[in-house]
Amino acid sequence: MNHTAILDAHGIGWSVQGQPIVSNVDISVRHGETLGLIGPNGSGKSTLLRMLAGLLTPTYGEICFDGKPIQQMSRRQIARLITLVSQQAETEDRITVRDAVELGRTPWLTALSPWGADDEAAVNQALRAVDMEAMSTREWNTLSGGERQRVHIARAHAQSPQLLLLDEPTNHLDIHHQLAILDLVKTLPVTSVIALHDIHHALRCDRVMVLKAGKKVALGPPADILTSDLMRHVFSVDARIVPDPAGGASLISFQRIHSI
Ligand code: ADP
Ligand code: MG
Repeated sequence: MNHTAILDAHGIGWSVQGQPIVSNVDISVRHGETLGLIGPNGSGKSTLLRMLAGLLTPTYGEICFDGKPIQQMSRRQIARLITLVSQQAETEDRITVRDAVELGRTPWLTALSPWGADDEAAVNQALRAVDMEAMSTREWNTLSGGERQRVHIARAHAQSPQLLLLDEPTNHLDIHHQLAILDLVKTLPVTSVIALHDIHHALRCDRVMVLKAGKKVALGPPADILTSDLMRHVFSVDARIVPDPAGGASLISFQRIHSI
């Protein structure tokens, strides 16, 4: 990882009917990093990701990809650079795994460059990356939750973006499959921003950004950011941060604060 920014958001915000949902957020996503985004329910994580993906225009502020404002780019140009796997990502029941992954190539297809060998290669590589090659002819509606999530990530990977945005990709998965998805994202050769609801998962990210009521309250390496004070202030829990005896990620025990 180097420290040059791939994506810069300068003081962005989004309001609806005068109500601020995301307020004045600055963020610089570094080449190659896995940046975790955490915050209570309703703190603005999905809204922020949709702005970073170019799907929602900020009410104010500017987002630049490699120094160029994305507001000035076409939908297709943005889709070649940035992909969002959204929280409620669904797909049609009747299509196969391979069909679903092929959809990722859409922004690269034009009248002058129809489906070709490079598209085929990108799809094969994406299926291999998520270990779904053997299931490529399976129908979507026969897949488990973890398999579906892997296909969503394969579709995003086949799109060959430089920045991958994931909105709570581990929802509804058991612990083994949650960790498998996070490990997969970390091994992909792409910069990623992941909204997460499990604090333990945030410990696995290179950096973490914390949102509370639409405002950025912290950004940095997880070990520096996820302090007891922050957990009390942002999540209203008493947290004990205990070093893992095996030297791995810290473990956190939680106690809900009753009166806040
Ligand atoms: P998170 O992903 O952190 O749970 P969201 O970004 O989904 O948070 O939502 C943040 C807040 O903005 C929530 O209170 C939600 O109800 C509100 N919100 C999001 N989109 C809209 C909208 N289109 N209209 C009104 N309120 C919205
Ligand atoms: Mg959300």
